[in-house]
Amino acid sequence: MQRNYKEAIQHPIFKIISKAAEELGVESYVIGGYVRDFLLGRKSPKDIDIVAVGSGISLARKVAEKLENTPKVQVFKNYGTAMINAGDFEVEFVGARKESYHFDSRKPVVENGTLEDDQNRRDFTINALALSLSSTDFGALLDPFNGIIALEEKIIKTPLDPDITYSDDPLRMMRAIRFASQLHFKIEPESLKAIQRNKDRIKIISNERIVDELHKILLSSTPSTGFKLLYQTELLPIILPELTNLQGIEEIEGQRHKDNFYHTLEVVDNISKNTDDLWLRWAALLHDIGKAPTKKFNKKIGWTFHGHEFIGSKMVYKLFKRLRMPLNEKMKFVQKMVLMSSRPIVLANKTVTDSAVRRLVFDAGDYVDDLMTLCEADITTKNPKKFKKYHHNFKVVRQKIVEVEERDHIRNFQPPISGEEIMKVFNLKPSREIGVIKEAIKEAILEGEIPNEYDAAFQFMLKKAKAIGLNVVKK
Ligand code: ATP
Repeated sequence: MQRNYKEAIQHPIFKIISKAAEELGVESYVIGGYVRDFLLGRKSPKDIDIVAVGSGISLARKVAEKLENTPKVQVFKNYGTAMINAGDFEVEFVGARKESYHFDSRKPVVENGTLEDDQNRRDFTINALALSLSSTDFGALLDPFNGIIALEEKIIKTPLDPDITYSDDPLRMMRAIRFASQLHFKIEPESLKAIQRNKDRIKIISNERIVDELHKILLSSTPSTGFKLLYQTELLPIILPELTNLQGIEEIEGQRHKDNFYHTLEVVDNISKNTDDLWLRWAALLHDIGKAPTKKFNKKIGWTFHGHEFIGSKMVYKLFKRLRMPLNEKMKFVQKMVLMSSRPIVLANKTVTDSAVRRLVFDAGDYVDDLMTLCEADITTKNPKKFKKYHHNFKVVRQKIVEVEERDHIRNFQPPISGEEIMKVFNLKPSREIGVIKEAIKEAILEGEIPNEYDAAFQFMLKKAKAIGLNVVKK
């Protein structure tokens, strides 16, 4: 039975494309992500992919002529594609094509083809669904690989032999896992095995594209789904060995440590319930990577990971650099989160003093809330009593942060007395003493000896200066 999905293409843009195609005498179809997402009821897709059995670029130009304000047609000659920004949508046009691949590249040799050829070159059966825009069968579904059934059964499978599909373009391995994570689909067992067999082919894919897919996995609602699949298919040790190095439980003299890989995945899932911030999710993913190189066994105290936060934050830089991720403030944020990831835990284990909270806020600055969110996600104990206790303690820390902040304004701390003023008061040239006095004032404020106010800091400065033998020149 041929199904019709007119409701998917009710928007006036589709009639315009249909008319333009008819005037050019070519067939046209909506294909891929738009159709898939509409049928899945995902929030209204913004990208529309159109296949013309003929020139996609000519069709784009004809459509642009018919649209209000005649939008610009962006032509990508090398790819034979064209794009129009049509109000609500970005519409991409391509001529139906047949592809063949060389072993060392994911760039295919392309020749003109039929709609069927074009559906054959698609990565998954759920991405090969096409709706006709011809007036004779407007809205008819063309589904040669039973993509509709795969959608219903939530299965990711390739239209052709999976070994060929993944070897031709190994990015598809990442895409399969990303879709499984985003859509809560299963990857068909044959496909999963083929990914494992072809895992080394991932090396021909640029880091930028791999990272793009990692971002999408991390932004899905339970990223652990994607990371477990990356692990299972053995792609993960190629892409992120820092994570797989965390896998495993060692036991010496009856003492075991937890599996820090699965723990990390739990932390990432936990944090994903509370934040959509990509970089905070990255911080959760990487917060324990320093544990592999710092792991030691000590007869008296058991397993230790001394300094893993510091080592981990150094590893963040190397990892970002290797994957060609931005080495900017986003990376610094992730480094800071990793470096500070144990700080609130120490606080939550004992009674919280104001000065400890002030130091935390001072060091974390604007990121103190993110740090608390990370630490709360880090609670993965299966002991319900401990779970409750730790969460309660963090609540207390959060409350203290608010109280201390209202009173002392430590966040984005600006020294109440500037170096310039110190120089004037004691008639000093730039010198070590200025640093000593500034540091002493900061310490006194953080310790709660004086409030974070000008007058108190001034008096404190005079006392401190006297102690190190300085005389006041001008008040
Ligand atoms: P999303 O927008 O979530 O990334 P999408 O499926 O729309 O999903 P696009 O990258 O925009 O992803 O690709 C559009 C369509 O092009 C896909 O639905 C698929 O049919 C096809 N496609 C994209 N990348 C590949 C690929 N590497 N191999 C084969 N077909 C692909």
